Amino acid sequence: MYELPAPVNMALERLQRAGYEACLVGGCVRDLLRGKPPQDYDLSTSALPEQTETVFAGERLVETGLRHGTVTVLLEGMALEITTFRVDGAYSDARRPDAVRFTPSLTEDLARRDFTVNAMAWSPAAGLTDPFGGRADLEAGVLRCVGDPTLRFTEDALRILRALRFSATLDFSIETETGKALRALAPRLKLVSAERVYSELCKLLCGLRAGRVILDWTEVLGVVLPELLPMRGFDQRNRHHCYDVLTHSVKTLEGVPPVPDLRWAALLHDLGKPAAFTLDEKGEGHFKGHPELSAAQTEQILRRLRASRASRETVTELVRLHDRPIEPTARAVRRVLSRYGAEFFSRLMQLKRADNLAQAPEYRDRQQLYDRIEALARDILLEKPCLSLRELAVDGNDLAALGIPRGPKLGRTLQALLDGVLDGTLENERETLLRAAQTVSTMSQDDGKEFHESK
Ligand code: ATP
Ligand code: MG
Repeated sequence: MYELPAPVNMALERLQRAGYEACLVGGCVRDLLRGKPPQDYDLSTSALPEQTETVFAGERLVETGLRHGTVTVLLEGMALEITTFRVDGAYSDARRPDAVRFTPSLTEDLARRDFTVNAMAWSPAAGLTDPFGGRADLEAGVLRCVGDPTLRFTEDALRILRALRFSATLDFSIETETGKALRALAPRLKLVSAERVYSELCKLLCGLRAGRVILDWTEVLGVVLPELLPMRGFDQRNRHHCYDVLTHSVKTLEGVPPVPDLRWAALLHDLGKPAAFTLDEKGEGHFKGHPELSAAQTEQILRRLRASRASRETVTELVRLHDRPIEPTARAVRRVLSRYGAEFFSRLMQLKRADNLAQAPEYRDRQQLYDRIEALARDILLEKPCLSLRELAVDGNDLAALGIPRGPKLGRTLQALLDGVLDGTLENERETLLRAAQTVSTMSQDDGKEFHESK
């Protein structure tokens, strides 16, 4: 039926030869039937965890999931999660089953799974096991709960977000009863841990149809991202814009690559607009200062969702800078590269391009300007230039040896030398810099100098 990686076949065979049932389950079966390469292969088996360990004695085993019946086996460098058929016990907190019970029945194991398309199994011996019509739903592009949707979303509210996530990534519609139940039970999403919510949202935002899902299910997402609600329908009353704030943001999101930090920045970049809105005497809307407001709210949201510090900082900074013009000169671009690095610069340009393309058609004319800026950046990076203090031909010790006291003054002097190198007024050469250090006193760099002053 499919070309499976050798270690997967090996694992299935070894369990079967030892007399156990063994099959692939969940996401990988779904993806294989769609003709997409699975992210990972999950195996299910009638063998109890210790029996699985015996079958794979001599291989490298990881036991971290043992409590839930999962043994991870490393075969030829591939990590395979092998889980004993199980039934989840009662859910008292809408988060996690209180206990799990092992079962000899594959069908019982499939019944605990969230959606019909995720509740199929396949093995070389038995072929496809599909007790809930997953294959038909997959072909029709429909996401449907296994069993009673109200019950299933009440057991585990995260499934509400998983439904939206799969709808976005697979471009599936949500079956009517499943949709009604998830709308009604959406407030229960408040019971789910921030980490689980954030991780699902990242996957949702990177989905092919994230935009459609955000617009169709704003109310549900609003339980975990209430900040989206004032954006919806907010008329910008500005000639640059033909969409309300939420639609503009969603179009921006669809215009950037599916990288979580970038998608978050695109979705949230104009968050501050409703609060920054003013109307002039001609009846035109303005949003002075909105990037700062958006950045402050973005930072709060990502703290609340317990995003990693690195992601929080990157996204907040992208939001803060999304509207700041960059002058198309080598000097300006070199400064932005120096301050933020090449990776961030490239993300920022992707955001700016998408933001501009999501404006009114007659104002989507910034792309050539961005081409020029990016061409400059490419040239600068090819030169392997000195862009940071680390790459400067002198360091703190050199300056201290000249008699400049260690401390803030020495730091400012180094920065002034770097600025000179970035601007092209100084060569990054030891003798030149040592000479300059003696004349440079305390030039200090002011914030945001690398960006154009006005629009
Ligand atoms: P991905 O391609 O993102 O890995 P996946 O379907 O494999 O998608 P996982 O989160 O890896 O999703 O979960 C593996 C399988 O476990 C799912 O296909 C589903 O059968 C089951 N599952 C996961 N989370 C839940 C849940 N909250 N409730 C019920 N079943 C779940
Ligand atoms: Mg998976």
